[in-house]
Amino acid sequence: MKHETARPSVIPSVHGFSPGFAALGLEARLLATLDQLGYEEPTPIQREAIPPLLAGKDVLGQAATGTGKTAAFALPLLQRLAQGAKAQPASLILVPTRELAVQVGDAVKRYGKELRTSVLTLYGGQAMEPQLHALKRGVDVVVATPGRALDHIRRQSLKLSQVRVVVLDEADEMLDMGFADDLDAILEQTPAVKQTALFSATMPARIKSIAQRHLNHPVEITIAKEPVKVGTAPRVQQTAYIVARPYRGAALVRVLDMAGPKSALVFCRTRVEVDDVTALLNGRGYRAEALHGGMSQPQRDRVLQAFRVGQTNLLVATDVAARGLDIPHVSHVINFDLPSSAEIYVHRIGRTGRAGREGAAMTVLDPREERLLRSIERLTNAKVTVAPVPLAADLLAKRLERTRAAVQEAMQTEDLGGFRGVVEAMAASHDPITIAAAAMKLVFRAQGGDRVEEDIPALPVRRPGFNQTMRTMPRPSSRTGDRDRAEPSRLSKRPPGRPDRERPNAGMVRVYVGTGHQAGIRPGDLVGAITNEAKVHSKVLGDIEILDRFSLIEVPEAMAPTIIDRLGRARIKGHRVPVRLFREERDIR
Ligand code: AMP
Repeated sequence: MKHETARPSVIPSVHGFSPGFAALGLEARLLATLDQLGYEEPTPIQREAIPPLLAGKDVLGQAATGTGKTAAFALPLLQRLAQGAKAQPASLILVPTRELAVQVGDAVKRYGKELRTSVLTLYGGQAMEPQLHALKRGVDVVVATPGRALDHIRRQSLKLSQVRVVVLDEADEMLDMGFADDLDAILEQTPAVKQTALFSATMPARIKSIAQRHLNHPVEITIAKEPVKVGTAPRVQQTAYIVARPYRGAALVRVLDMAGPKSALVFCRTRVEVDDVTALLNGRGYRAEALHGGMSQPQRDRVLQAFRVGQTNLLVATDVAARGLDIPHVSHVINFDLPSSAEIYVHRIGRTGRAGREGAAMTVLDPREERLLRSIERLTNAKVTVAPVPLAADLLAKRLERTRAAVQEAMQTEDLGGFRGVVEAMAASHDPITIAAAAMKLVFRAQGGDRVEEDIPALPVRRPGFNQTMRTMPRPSSRTGDRDRAEPSRLSKRPPGRPDRERPNAGMVRVYVGTGHQAGIRPGDLVGAITNEAKVHSKVLGDIEILDRFSLIEVPEAMAPTIIDRLGRARIKGHRVPVRLFREERDIR
């Protein structure tokens, strides 16, 4: 394995490299990029997967979103491409959804910035022309959903004969979406000699069979199979709030505002996040200080001292910076993102609930990380309650309650001498309750209670064991490939073209989309369009039925207006189609 030493000319001088990443054999330009991104050390999957991938081996990795698996395959891929001759494209990364294609494409671009690697993201619903243009110009890495990749292969605009590295990301989800045949068809187009990596959150037999067919003596990596030793379990109440990525900051502030902690630790993954979150919290009136690996020892000492004496009430830290530090007991630990492993989670929450005292651990996470949360729960034998982010009205009620408690305490502990006279004098001509209410209002306002708050869009909590199902109606010429087998066979006898279920699930409504089998629509097209256009996560969607001329998508009632509005203005497979609430009688005829 090649192990390059850092070249001083490209090293940013401030922080220096993380020995953790350098020890894995990554080259200087990638190390510089990771440093700029504020990554302090590799996550477990990165530690395991990067060396064999750099050595050119195939890898079969079991890892969920949130473990850092994108960098685990992207960094070695970028380094190997940079070392070899340019081919167009030299690498293909397949992902199940548009949303993920965009996310992975952005990540690969970010990691490959210094290497000047060109990355193209291809997914359905995008206009074809720009894609064709970009493919003609040539790119190093293509990130694509299987459907769109196959479209391009058929048009001969995507040629895979020079591909050296193939990645199948979230392979289980691709199979769940019925892409098994497409994957085989795509992989057939790639050279026999190449490197292949397959990542999947679960390893059912179907994944093993794909691995057997397409991977060559893969190194198998499973992260976090062993339960984590928790020691004497701290009495920590653990809560998780699942919010879409853009609302993470707002959710963090809401959770903090509700908890009103005297002192709390907020954990982030990267130095950059630590700085951003610190600025956000200071802007909201907290006294927050950053603690990360990019700081000098005297700086860290000063920050810790300020926290100890109560000059600051929030410490925002990376795991590396907090490790080994004698941080005093805190009542709350807040994870601004789930950590990448169960070990780190346990380490973080161990900062509260010490010495028999009660503590609270709260985690704000992305819907895609719910699987990782469940695995952490399992490995630590802990119960993490998923709760909705408190509403603006909840916060208002909490603030009123705080004002009431402050006034009540003052009644018992303060010397009210002079004030009593003032109230008595006022009471001669005013109602005493009105006087008290006005005084309370002033206290409330002085405490910032009248600050206007907005609700954070909710994602419905998934019921345990609840699995989203995707169904399509059988087509007359239905193939009996994996795509069809992947779909639950709960299809009842019904008149042709009629949906097979009379009622949506509780809390859900059905949205009518005026396109179906005849236009070649597949579940992925609809899921992709919704996640992309309405910025709604695919997990919140219920059953999907595709009929000849229209499709029905079950969505949470509260989200239906937004979804209908956005989807109605979007293009599905290049066309505008009618979208509305499904009204059984009218639509079936
Ligand atoms: P992934 O599991 O690939 O979706 O990554 C989850 C998140 O972790 C992304 O936001 C990455 O930017 C971040 N991340 C990945 N690796 C590291 C690392 N070594 N240190 C800090 N953050 C990381």
